[in-house]
Order: sequence, then C-alpha cells, then structure tokens
Amino acid sequence: MHEPTDALAAPRFTGIRTFARLPHLPEIDGADAAIFGMPWDGGTSFRSGARFGPEAIRSASALLRPYNPAQRQMVFGHLSCVDAGDAPTVPGYIEETLTRIEAYAAGIIAQGAVPIGLGGDHSVALAELRAVAKQHGPVAYVQVDAHHDLWDSYNGKPYNHGTFAKRAIEEGLIDPARSFQGGQRGSLYGPEDYEVAAELGIELVPWLDLRSWTPEHFGEHIRDRVGDAPLFLSFDIDFVDPGLCPGTGTPEIGGPTGEQALDLVRALRGVNLVGADVVEVAPQYDSPGQHTALMAANVVYELLTLLAIAKA
Ligand code: MN
Ligand code: MN
Repeated sequence: MHEPTDALAAPRFTGIRTFARLPHLPEIDGADAAIFGMPWDGGTSFRSGARFGPEAIRSASALLRPYNPAQRQMVFGHLSCVDAGDAPTVPGYIEETLTRIEAYAAGIIAQGAVPIGLGGDHSVALAELRAVAKQHGPVAYVQVDAHHDLWDSYNGKPYNHGTFAKRAIEEGLIDPARSFQGGQRGSLYGPEDYEVAAELGIELVPWLDLRSWTPEHFGEHIRDRVGDAPLFLSFDIDFVDPGLCPGTGTPEIGGPTGEQALDLVRALRGVNLVGADVVEVAPQYDSPGQHTALMAANVVYELLTLLAIAKA
C-alpha cells in the first residue's frame, strides 16, 4: 500500500513536493492509481504557461487528507497511489511530445495502474487517449471544459489544444456515441461551432443548459450514456469560472463555482474510470493564494475518490 506521508507526524509543508505527498515511484510498484505530470504548453492558442501546471498542482495538493467526507470514503490508505513523476516532453515539437507522453502513459497502464494526468495544455489528452485506447479499444469520453476542442485546425495545423478532441474521434480513440462534453461557453466563430459536435456524434451540453442540471441528473445522464464502458474523464480547469480559477490560458467568464464543479465530479459514482486528467493550469495567472492549482488538486482527489469507491 502506497500512501502519503502522515501530516500528523511530519508537517505538510516539509518534504519534497509530490502529489499529496505520495511516494515518487515511476516504477508504480503495484499501485492502483498513478498520478503523473505532463509539463507542456506548446499546444496553446493564447496564453502559454501550463508547462508549470503539474508543479503548481503538486504544491497545492500538500493540503489533501486521506478521508473524503463528501463521499464518505477513505481515499489514501484504501487506494494505493503513487506519483509517477513527469512524462518527458520536447519543447517546440508537439508530435514528438505526444508520442513520448503516450509511451509514458502506456507504461503506467501496462503496470496495471489507472493513469491520472496533470496538465499541461489540453493537447496532451490526445496522447493519453492513444495510450488508453491501445489497451481498451475506443473508450467512452467525458470532457468538462469551457471549450469543446473540436475545431479542425489552427493556422492550418492539426495538433493544438483546441483540436485534439476532433483528432481523437478521427483516430477512433473514443466512441462518440458513449461520449459527452459539457460546460462550453464564451464567444464562438459562428453557430456551426457547436453543430460540429452533433456531426461528429458526440453530445455537447453548453454551460447555459448544463447549469440547470442537478448533480444527480448529471450523474444519471452520464451513467446512461457511458454504460459500463471504460471511461476517460478530462477536466479542463477553465470549466470553472475564472473568477475562482484565473490561472489558465483561455479563460471564459461565467462558469460554475468550485463547489458546483466538484459536485458534478462526485455525482459520477459507479462509472468504470480507466484514465483521467486535469489540464490547463497555468500558474503564472493564478491568484496569490493559488486557487486554481488548489482546485485542480481537489478535482484529482475527487477522481481518486471515484476509484476508491469502485475498489470498495
Ligand atoms: Mn480544453
Ligand atoms: Mn478549455
């Protein structure tokens, strides 16, 4: 059982930073879940900086404790977790970077752990999905995000944090009929921007609609759509209102509070989670209290809780 250093024995501000003060074990060593970083922002279309996201999330995560009262679930100590370190990236070379991240994630999966990625701009999800689909076939995919990331290209190029989800569908990595995107908002290039989701067969529920769903309805809806298929969940931190989470590259005003966002993740009890990530944390734009990184750390904690519940 791999678990965090006990904060009642050694204060949580001591020690070398890993996620939640877990052991740094790139070899995984039998863990149920492996958190790993993807320090990369070469796929951003506006503000860069997400290459420092994993580091910021790890720092903020030092505050996490083993028991999650919202789900009445022991997390650490019940679920064996490690920090598997960072995937290698190659500044300036997005296709090579995606290849290296895919190999790193595949190594985690091959050792039997569920990979939980810390981004990094959202383009890294394409690499994770390639690794997950190689193991499981086309997976169910749930993305909460202020953007759908289904655009065809930027500046005539195919790989970017705003295009990866379309690439994932084209590559057959996800099953659109079992997939869902929610939370989209902000200005668009035109009305066809949202119509492309239906054309690709993926369900898209913008925030203007999603905001009136209860967490219970959201959970039931996702379980209906996904069934027992292997699920990859991608949480873009810009889903949360930038008033709370300003530390991100393409903020869109008017999103959920942190509480609303956490409740939606918690409502996903019972899904068959085989991989997940929290992306787009750019700490340079965060507030002095690092709210954005703290929110990201807590979303990862809720994802680990879902895995802990599934193991119970
Ligand atoms: Mn995104
Ligand atoms: Mn986004």
